[in-house]
Parts: sequence; structure tokens; C-alpha cells
Amino acid sequence: MTERIALGKSDLLVHPIGLGTNAVGGHNLYPNLNEETGKELVRTALDSGMNFLDTAFIYGPERSEELIGEVLKERGSRDDIVIATKGAHKFVNGEVKLDNSPAFLREAVEGSLKRLQTDYIDLYYIHFPDEQTPKDEAVGELKRLRDEGKIKAIGVSNFSIDQLKEANKDGYVDVLQSEYNLFQREAEKDLLPYTAENQISFIPYFPLASGLLAGKYSKDSKFDDIRAENPLFKGEAFERNLEKVEKLREISESNHADVAHVVLAWYLTRDSIDALIPGAKRPDQVLDNLKTLDVQLTREEIERIDSIFRG
Ligand code: NAP
Repeated sequence: MTERIALGKSDLLVHPIGLGTNAVGGHNLYPNLNEETGKELVRTALDSGMNFLDTAFIYGPERSEELIGEVLKERGSRDDIVIATKGAHKFVNGEVKLDNSPAFLREAVEGSLKRLQTDYIDLYYIHFPDEQTPKDEAVGELKRLRDEGKIKAIGVSNFSIDQLKEANKDGYVDVLQSEYNLFQREAEKDLLPYTAENQISFIPYFPLASGLLAGKYSKDSKFDDIRAENPLFKGEAFERNLEKVEKLREISESNHADVAHVVLAWYLTRDSIDALIPGAKRPDQVLDNLKTLDVQLTREEIERIDSIFRG
């Protein structure tokens, strides 16, 4: 069995390759995935020995959690499965608002428990910061939920460095989830150093830049989902980005791997990045991402990858 890695200061032990389930349940980012395929992605991950599933109230909305709940029920036991979910969004008169208040977070956790058909959530994140709630108060409520056994570990997502420091005033934060990939390096400035110094696991989201870093697109590729609006996928920037990805080909070939595996392996060489949650649309992609663990990058390769994307 692949070695399990502890997340932050928690007792959670995860396979380093998890599954991001943004697309499961037909989230508005990726509206074209049918529900049966979504469940198949989850089953494939668990059958292959992966144990780390990343979801959220807003994926679907609610449907990603519900479909994962159905798969968990089919399996009977959920021992060794680590479920991470997130909350903070709520619908008010048809509009989405953010709420990190203790009362709302408690209600949100109860909702997730029902949809996931479980009596505890392994890792619960505040999905996005709101403007009004002090972050240590919000995390204080998650600590109470942890003491009650409803959640096992505490995460925050999309927090700035100041919000993260406030949230972690009492040292309760186990995981930070933020956008980070070879194109989006903002987190290197202060978030990654902070997580490394404070025993917080950093989970990068969009690790494959929504597929751009998988090395399979060409300048003629067309997109009918959020990628159509993503500046990385537009015009000359798209062509420049494809050229950078192409430069990874040499490294992937010498490692007998695909570009996606090299990219994912690169993140795992960074301090505090203990596990990854690439998304997938097809079961074969879920399995394919496991090949990441066969890639052992040399120091020269790590630096070369870094320099391609800095240039
Ligand atoms: P991603 O992981 O960067 O990219 C996923 C896409 O990469 C897939 O849809 C697929 O593209 C392609 N892909 C995956 N494996 C592949 C393989 N082996 N070979 C070739 N292509 C492959 O993007 P994401 O799924 O949007 O993000 C990952 C996870 O991060 C989400 O599922 C979610 O759990 C989390 N997330 C969190 C937040 C937050 O606010 N905390 C925000 C966004 C995402 P095709 O569709 O072209 O096949």
C-alpha cells in the first residue's frame, strides 16, 4: 500500500494523490459531466487505493457531496477514507453569499454530514473568507466542532496571509487550500513559507491549471466551460503557455512519464505540499494520475521546471 501522509498537525493519513470532485455533480465550472460518471470517478479512486476525496457544498451545489455520500453508503465502511469538504456559501433570495459566522458554519457542517451520509467529516474547510467574521472566531467554532467529534481536522481556503495568520492565532489550522500551479505562483510569496513554518499542509488547487498543464492541448483546442473565460487559455497568452508546457516534454520522456505526472511530481517536492487533489472527468484520468508517484525528479529537473515557468 502506498505510504499515507499526515496532514498538518492532525491524525489524518492520506494517499498523496487524492481526487478533486469539483466536476462531480455537474458543478457550474464543468457542467457537462453526468452523475453516473461522477460516481464512477469516486469508486475508481477508492478501488485503486486512493483515500482522499475533496468536495464542497457549492460543487453541484450539494450534488457532489450527495453523490460521494451514495458511494460511501455502497461501500459500507468508510474507515481509511478521508473526506474533505468545505462551506461558507449560502443562498439568499437566489443569490450566493459568504458567511463564516460560527452559527452558519455549524449549520453548514450539519448539512454536509447529512449529504455525505456520515457522522463525521475528516477535514472541514472554511471555503472562502467573508468580510465580517473575525477569522479566529470562525476557526474557534470549527475547534468546538472538532472537540464534539463532528469534524477531525480544520482547514481554510482562499485566505490571504493576514487572514491565515488570524485564523491560526491559536494554532488550530491543519490545512490551507489555495490556488497554486506552475502558472499561478502567488502563493510562493508568503502562504507557502507560512505553512511550511507552521506545520500546516498546503493543498494546491487547479494543480493542472484545469488541464493546461497536462500537455494535451494545442492552439486549436476549444473549450465550452470555465476555461473559455480563463486568461491562461486566451489568445497569445494561450500560445505562450502551450510553448512552456511543451518544454516539459523532454523531462517527461526521460522519466518515461507524461507531462501531467511530471507537473504533479514537481509540487510534491515543495515544502508543506503533502498531497494533491487533481480533478478528473474520466476514470482513466484518475488512475493515470497515480503514475505521478513513479516519477523521481532530480534537483536539476526541479530547477529546470521552475525556470521554464519563470521565464
Ligand atoms: P485541475 O486539477 O487543475 O485540472 C483537472 C483537469 O485536468 C481535468 O478535468 C482534465 O481535463 C485534466 N486531467 C486530469 N488528469 C489528467 C490526466 N491524467 N491526463 C490528462 N488530463 C488530465 O482542475 P480542477 O479539477 O478544477 O481542480 C482540482 C480540484 O481542486 C477540484 O476538483 C476541487 O476539488 C479543488 N478546487 C478547490 C477550489 C477552492 O476554492 N478551494 C477551487 C477550485 C478547485 P479535461 O477536462 O480536459 O479532460
